[in-house]
Amino acid sequence: MAHHITILPETLTNKIAAGEVVERPASVIKELIENSLDAGATDISVEIVGGGKRKIRITDNGHGMSREDALLSLERHATSKIRVDDDLDRILTLGFRGEALPSIASVSRFTLASRETASSEGTEVVVEGGRIRDVRACGMPSGTVISVEQIFFNLPARLKFLKSAETEAGHVADVVARMAVSRPDVAFSCVSDDRELLRLQRSDLQRRLVQVVGRESAQHLYPVKQESDGIAIAGFISAPALVRSGTQAIYTYINGRFIRDKVVQHAVMQAYRGVIDRGRYPVVTINIELPPGEVDVNVHPTKHEVRFRRQAAVHDAIQSAIENVLRRSPWLVAPQAPTGQEQSRATGQAYRDRIAAAAQASLVLPPQSTYWSSAAPDPIAAAAPTVKLDQPTIVRDPAPSFLPEQLGYFSSLSVIGQFHSEYILCQSESELVIIDQHAASERVAFQLLKQQCSSGVVESQRLLFPETVELSFGEVAAASRFNQELMRIGFEMEPFGGSTIMVSAVPRLIAQQNAVQLIRDILADLERFATSAAFNDALESLLSRVACHSVVRGTHNLGQRQIEELLHSMDKTDFAASCPHGRPVSHVVTLAELQKIFKRI
Ligand code: ADP
Ligand code: MG
Repeated sequence: MAHHITILPETLTNKIAAGEVVERPASVIKELIENSLDAGATDISVEIVGGGKRKIRITDNGHGMSREDALLSLERHATSKIRVDDDLDRILTLGFRGEALPSIASVSRFTLASRETASSEGTEVVVEGGRIRDVRACGMPSGTVISVEQIFFNLPARLKFLKSAETEAGHVADVVARMAVSRPDVAFSCVSDDRELLRLQRSDLQRRLVQVVGRESAQHLYPVKQESDGIAIAGFISAPALVRSGTQAIYTYINGRFIRDKVVQHAVMQAYRGVIDRGRYPVVTINIELPPGEVDVNVHPTKHEVRFRRQAAVHDAIQSAIENVLRRSPWLVAPQAPTGQEQSRATGQAYRDRIAAAAQASLVLPPQSTYWSSAAPDPIAAAAPTVKLDQPTIVRDPAPSFLPEQLGYFSSLSVIGQFHSEYILCQSESELVIIDQHAASERVAFQLLKQQCSSGVVESQRLLFPETVELSFGEVAAASRFNQELMRIGFEMEPFGGSTIMVSAVPRLIAQQNAVQLIRDILADLERFATSAAFNDALESLLSRVACHSVVRGTHNLGQRQIEELLHSMDKTDFAASCPHGRPVSHVVTLAELQKIFKRI
C-alpha cells in the first residue's frame, strides 16, 4: 500500500482544537486504541506494567504502516485521516488531529513497530523523549505494536500527578471496557502485570455487555432502538432496580465515539425522572447515529465533547427512545437477559396496557401548582394535609436542650399508637408528638455506628453465603486501597477476579438487608478519595449511608414494646430530632394549635 500520511497545512491545523491529550496511561491507551480501530483492527490487546506507568504495549492486527508512514506518523499534524478543510465536516474516523503519536513519543521511551499486510517485513522506530534513536527493519506479523515505557520520565512534575499503579490500572481497564462496548465486533484483551483484566471475543453488543457489566447486571438491561428524523438511537438501558450512585455506568456514544455530553446526559436523566430516586443514576449504553455533518467533534482535543447542529432534536430523540422502553416497564413482566422483545410480546395486551398506564402516571406527575389549586374535589387533594393551607405549622425542637438528660423526653411520652405503620403517635401533657419511625431508627443506628467506630471497629457479621458484587475497575481499586478502613466500618471484602469483589462480612446492623447497593454506593464514594485522611473526613457520611440501609423501608408494624425501645434509644441519641440527612424526625402539635383549628379559642 502506498504511504498515505500527509502533514496538514497550517491553515487547517489552526482550525483543530489544540491541547494536550496525554494526561495519564489511560489517555495514552485511549488514543492508541482509537488508532488501532481506525486502522481496521479486529483484534486489539493491551498490556500494562505498573498501572501503565512502567510500560504500555498495544498490539493490533490493523492495516499497518509502511516505513515512510511509520516515520511520518511521528511528526506533528501528520495524519492519513483528513486532508482538506471540508473533511472536518465529514469525520468518520476516531482520530483526525495527527497529534497523538508525536505527543506520546515526546514524553516517554517509545517504540513503534508496524508491518503492512502486503510487505514482507516490518519497520521498528525507537524514539526517546521525542528524538528518533533508531529505525530498522524487523520481522513481525502484519499490524502494529506500540510500546510506551516510563511515561513522563522527562517530565517529573507530571509524573507526580499520577496515582498508584492500582488506580491507574483501574482507569486503563475502564477505558478499554468503554471502547470495547463501542465495538463488540472487535476482540479486546487487557492484561495488567500478568493479570488478565478483560478478555473479550468478537460478538454482538448484548453479549459484550454481559461480559463488561456482568451477567447479573445485564439481566436488568432492556434494548432501546428508535429512529426518527435522521437520528438513530440504539443500545440497552436498565430497569429502575439497577441504579448507581454516580454517572459512571452511563456510556454514551456518538457514531461509535465515546462522549460525555451535558445534553445527552440530561436527556437520559429526564427520561428516568420520576422512575428512580434523586441522586441515583441508571445503567445506560446508547449509541446515537447521526450524519457526521450534524455533529462537531472538533471542540476539545480529547474529543469527549461534541456540539450538535440540532441539539433539541437530539435531546428529544434520546429522551423519547428511553421513555418508550420505560413506559412499557418490561421488567414488570419478568426479569430477563437483554433479548427481551420476544417474551414481552407474548404477554397479554390488557396486562401490558395496564402496566403502560401505570408507568405513564409515574412519569408524568402533575405540576405542584395544579395539585394545590385544583378546583374540583379530588380524592388525593382531599387527603392532603389541609392544616398546612390555613395554618402555618410550627415545627419546634421537641427535645429542648435544657431538659436534664435523665428525664428522657421521648421515654416520658405516652404512646397512643401507630399511624399508617409509618408514624408513631405519642402525647405529653399538652402536646401531640408525631415521630417518623423510619427517620428515628436511622438516627439511632447512625449514633450507634459512630460510637462503635470511635471505640475501635463497627461490629460486623460474617455472611453465611459470601456475596459477589460487580463493580467498575476504579471501584475495585478503591476496595483494595481502603481495605483496612472498610474493615473499620464493618466490611470485609476481597478481589474475586476481573471487576468482581467478594464480600464476606458486613456491619451487623445491616446483616438482615441486601447490602449490595450499599457497597456499590460506598465504593463509588471512595473511588474519589486518594488517601486515608480523605476517608476519615468522609467517615460520617459513609456511616450515615450504612445507617440508612440498616432500616426497614416503607410501612412496618411496630408493637408497643418496640416503640418503647425506640423512644428509649432516641433519648440516648444526639440530635435525635433529625435523621442523619437532616430531615425532621418528629413533629409537635400543641393543644393550643388544635384548639385553634377547632375554633375553641
Ligand atoms: P490521527 O489518529 O489523528 O491521525 P495519530 O498521531 O494518532 O493521529 O496517528 C498518526 C497517523 O499514524 C494516523 O493518521 C495513521 O495513519 C497512523 N497510525 C497510527 N496508529 C496506527 C496503527 N495502529 N495502525 C496503522 N496506522 C496507524
Ligand atoms: Mg489518533
